[in-house]
Amino acid sequence: MRLPLFAANWKMNKAVSEVRPFMLALLEGLHVLSAKAGTHYEVMIAPPATHLMTAREATQKTPIQIGAQNCGQAPSGAFTGEISPVVLKELGCPWVILGHSERRHLYLEDDNRVLGRLQAALKEGLLPILCVGETLPERKAGQTMAVVERQLGILKNAEVAGKSIVIAYEPVWAIGTGENATPAQAQEVHQFIRSWLKTHFSPAFSEKTRILYGGSVKPENSAFLMSEPDVDGFLVGGASLDAKSFSGIVENGLKSRS
Ligand code: PEP
Repeated sequence: MRLPLFAANWKMNKAVSEVRPFMLALLEGLHVLSAKAGTHYEVMIAPPATHLMTAREATQKTPIQIGAQNCGQAPSGAFTGEISPVVLKELGCPWVILGHSERRHLYLEDDNRVLGRLQAALKEGLLPILCVGETLPERKAGQTMAVVERQLGILKNAEVAGKSIVIAYEPVWAIGTGENATPAQAQEVHQFIRSWLKTHFSPAFSEKTRILYGGSVKPENSAFLMSEPDVDGFLVGGASLDAKSFSGIVENGLKSRS
């Protein structure tokens, strides 16, 4: 049984002063929900790296976990502007998002670069969320599975066996556009990812690995998307900036599981 995971990617949004009020509002929403649903799930917030200390302090002794939006490919060294995975661990930040489409497309991070970051994260015992997904022209050209398969391919060169990783399927055409994949489109790719993991690793690894959907998730569509058997939660951008919307996504997503 895979625990639903609801992850927030704040990207480069919010002031540090907004972190505490957000966490308080989210906790309130989640408390009400836990009392109502009694369902088990995990929540992770990835604020900008500059906000991680504040987020850590604001979420201590709460069920909210924190994550980084990227990490460097080495523990330390001459890597201007990068964030050390060792320091993330030291800060009490267990999660890291890797290979997000904005990193791949705006900052030209290729599969090899993402692999280096993944290897460094795993070495420090961080929990990576590896993002994969096709662009609109790639989908139109019928290349969705080929692109996803190529992006997943880096896992064969990372020591993932026996470790916990999460895959986020985020079609690039659905990120921040208001146009989400249909539940059937999401399920088709999630099922492909799960069977790829089974073929290249093991049935047990495939069964335990959570596959999140990301791309214009909101409270109005989370129940539909999560009713699919291979959708184990979400990676949410825009709608995660508002505590009420994010807890609404969690609440409606879990409804389809109860
Ligand atoms: C994202 O950036 O990971 C994302 C899914 O964004 P949004 O929810 O805004 O589409």
